[in-house]
Amino acid sequence: MSGLRMSLCSTAIVAAVLSFSATAQAQDQEEPQTLFTNVHVFDGVNEQRIENASVLVEGNLIKSVSTDAIDAPSATVIDGGGRTLTPGFIENHAHLMLMGPSIAEMETNSTWEDFAIHGTRMAEMYLMQGFTTVRDAGGAGGGLRRAIDAGQIVGPRFYPSGAFLGTRGGHADFASFTSPPGGVTNFGTLNMAQQVNGVDEIYMYGRNNLRMGATQLKFMQSGGVISAFDPWQLLAGSKEEIEAAVQVANEYGTYVMAHSYRKEAIINALNAGVRTIEHGFHFDCEISALMKEKGAYITTNITAFDPGLLDVPSVKNNPNSLRKAKSASATFEAYIPSMKECPAPRGFQTDCVGSVEACNIQIAYEKHLNNHFFGPYASMVTLTSVGGEIAALSGDFMNPYPEGKLGVIEEGAYADILLIDGNPLEDFSVVGTGDQWFGADPRPDSPETIRLIMKDGVIYKNTLD
Ligand SMILES: [Zn+2]
Repeated sequence: MSGLRMSLCSTAIVAAVLSFSATAQAQDQEEPQTLFTNVHVFDGVNEQRIENASVLVEGNLIKSVSTDAIDAPSATVIDGGGRTLTPGFIENHAHLMLMGPSIAEMETNSTWEDFAIHGTRMAEMYLMQGFTTVRDAGGAGGGLRRAIDAGQIVGPRFYPSGAFLGTRGGHADFASFTSPPGGVTNFGTLNMAQQVNGVDEIYMYGRNNLRMGATQLKFMQSGGVISAFDPWQLLAGSKEEIEAAVQVANEYGTYVMAHSYRKEAIINALNAGVRTIEHGFHFDCEISALMKEKGAYITTNITAFDPGLLDVPSVKNNPNSLRKAKSASATFEAYIPSMKECPAPRGFQTDCVGSVEACNIQIAYEKHLNNHFFGPYASMVTLTSVGGEIAALSGDFMNPYPEGKLGVIEEGAYADILLIDGNPLEDFSVVGTGDQWFGADPRPDSPETIRLIMKDGVIYKNTLD
């Protein structure tokens, strides 16, 4: 036995020495460079593109952006042909693991394999739609990111929240109707959703999420339309409970995102230190002012207000859901006007639960609605730099990608880059929008107009000649 242990031990040392010398060698060599020439740069922030520019990528970072020629003799040159070069898009609220078709089906009839296969396919779909970063709002943990970052599967940079944290009967209570409090659930066993009641359980499951690779925590304050036990206006979570979630996140230097609809819920969350408000149906100017004071963000899921939802069978055929859906869509009347009157930093979110093909359609429709209500420039900012700021809220210790900024094209930022036909600031459809949701035709694996997709300095798509 001891001989075996010795030999295992010396093998490990040899492997460590070999990998050390390989690293030292790599550092001696120059990082590979890619030079984009003849491009108009949307930098994620400014409405004016930087015309006739060049962008030099070295390794996984942007080395320079210039309207003068950049001298980089050993770089691979890509002639952008006058196309627009933008930051990769950022999705702030996805659920890559949740394939549907219903919560009950996932709770009673799905294995970890089903979830993992779905998450793997969703990750690839998102990247090929131009999203180089995705924040997951519940259901996925650090395992999927590990696989993406190790290059085992294709996907975007990934910021998971781990298990949803929600109260008994709240929006993350996915247990069956007769399941008793504390009962074993499929979602709980897989750490995809946890019922948390009282500060002690929030401490326990919050810390467990961060231990298992979450980059932020997700707390469910409000309810939902299709979910079984909760009015959407639910005001779950006492002051102490929300503050407990924020405290756990702060222990790790990160933050809490809250599923909040009602004004009271949003105000409670902001006062407790929550940094991103998800959905925020009752957004108004008072909330906008408090958000500014607290340095908080909102992510808008505009598809959630689509009148077509009232015709979905799971809503239409269930009087309770139909009533909830109607009262939720009534809040939309003031939602967009309030955002325009008192703008707050607003991130893009799709919040799709369903098949990969259905989510692909919903993402394209969410892009379309952003442009419809806010115009192309605000939509481009929402898709890029705001998401980069939200990603950075995960802090110095928990941010898995701390070397550079996300969502912008500037020196030192990560080389997450799209090359797009035309000018999305004039014709937004070139980012891959779809003007129909229900009944829409299947969408391509990747929009034709997005000609090149680079993440972390690596090209995943290139259809330039
Ligand atoms: Zn969600």
